[in-house]
Amino acid sequence: MSDCLFCKIVANEIPAEIVYETGRTLAFRDVNPQAPTHVLVIPKEHHADAAALAAADDGLADEVLKSAHEVAVLDGVSGSGYRIVFNTGAGAGQTVFHVHAHVLGGRDLGWPPG
Ligand code: AMP
Repeated sequence: MSDCLFCKIVANEIPAEIVYETGRTLAFRDVNPQAPTHVLVIPKEHHADAAALAAADDGLADEVLKSAHEVAVLDGVSGSGYRIVFNTGAGAGQTVFHVHAHVLGGRDLGWPPG
């Protein structure tokens, strides 16, 4: 999608600190990190939110999840624990409508989230 921020990152039109990539996914650091590890994992293909990604039904959601875990391993937080969050819809705080998993770790995240 031409007006989508994360599609522009995939297309290399906007810079990002990329930490992991597969054929169909990209992971890059959040510009406004909420934890020592705060990485966004996206499918390169545009899907607006987690519901649309799930409906794609082609293994892409699996690949996003596997990439999120790989990011946690690469950032050294898989042992201490990490959180994967898909904000879905404006009411849940979603501001970029290209589905993304937030991978958060490296501090005590607490529960429930604030
Ligand atoms: P959400 O509120 O769940 O839609 O999350 C969107 C996230 O994208 C926020 O945490 C932002 O800080 C992050 N963000 C916005 N623009 C960029 C960018 N250019 N590069 C990396 N992260 C971004």
